[in-house]
Amino acid sequence: MRMILVGPPGAGKGTQAARLLSTYEIPHISTGDMLRAAKKAGTEMGKKAAAFMDAGNLVPDEVVIGLVIDRIAEADCEEGFMLDGFPRTRPQAEALDTALTAAGVSLDVVLLIEVPDELIVERITGRRSDPATGTIYHLKFNPPPAALASKVVQRADDTEKACVARLKKYHSETAPIVPFYESKGLVRRVNGNAAPDVVTDRIKDVLSRN
Ligand code: ADP
Ligand code: ADP
Repeated sequence: MRMILVGPPGAGKGTQAARLLSTYEIPHISTGDMLRAAKKAGTEMGKKAAAFMDAGNLVPDEVVIGLVIDRIAEADCEEGFMLDGFPRTRPQAEALDTALTAAGVSLDVVLLIEVPDELIVERITGRRSDPATGTIYHLKFNPPPAALASKVVQRADDTEKACVARLKKYHSETAPIVPFYESKGLVRRVNGNAAPDVVTDRIKDVLSRN
């Protein structure tokens, strides 16, 4: 299965991807995770991306497109992949389309997780993760276990200011990819405003009918 997870920051893309991996045994490719790893490792790409990310801006298309096209050409993606956070612009969606067509394959589904804007800031500012495993928690909605409470970390861009900037970018740059995929009949919408278990069931239901 070749699928894309789309949704505003904080919609639950990463949370749901982790839950779906036991059912769909395909690589989870998160451009946010890849860029944060490059930033942490201090690579040229990471240095270039850091300022964009911390301000809540998008990293330039030419940086991200190359990263993803190389990754999905790897052997473990032959049977499929779950893209999380890519494409985020119309040129990214078109570049992905060109690469997949050249490889003689196509997307199966674009899963759109919908969450109202009013809920996003609270989700983002309360987000924490376990630096050892990457597991995502939320101070209020999914608190880390007591043993991890002092170890979880907050992302540099999970401030209210950067979150508001990201949400704006989502509406201006990313939302336009939805009609692009709708014209291909690939979009499936899921209401992400419910407990994580409920959202997982909704997604599995939608995918089983695909
Ligand atoms: P969130 O989980 O809040 O939606 P991500 O972890 O997906 O955020 O991305 C964090 C940041 O990494 C983005 O704000 C952006 O700066 C950069 N980024 C991630 N994916 C892309 C992409 N496809 N295009 C451009 N920038 C990206
Ligand atoms: P995204 O990858 O779309 O940016 P995350 O999966 O990182 O979103 O979730 C953002 C924050 O919201 C995290 O702190 C996560 O624990 C929390 N969260 C995820 N799904 C839900 C949900 N269904 N209800 C409440 N909080 C959630």
